[in-house]
Amino acid sequence: MVNKNSRALHQPQRTCVICRSVKSKQELIRFIRIADQVIYDLSGKINQRGYYVCNDNNCLQKLPVWQRKKRGKQVGKKSI
Ligand SMILES: [Zn+2]
Repeated sequence: MVNKNSRALHQPQRTCVICRSVKSKQELIRFIRIADQVIYDLSGKINQRGYYVCNDNNCLQKLPVWQRKKRGKQVGKKSI
């Protein structure tokens, strides 16, 4: 933890993939998709392309839906 000024002038902002709201990194959870698995990168050390989602039940609950959509795009076909 850096104990400088509590009023940071510029905080890194990220977009939640679910609700598209822009928040500071502290309010979001970073996760990584490996194959069909969602892995939460709590340490921030995993060197993979990450996504961000709100640290909020609403958005976390919708994550499986988002995942399915993503996968559907890659396949390009509907199996139903
Ligand atoms: Zn969100």
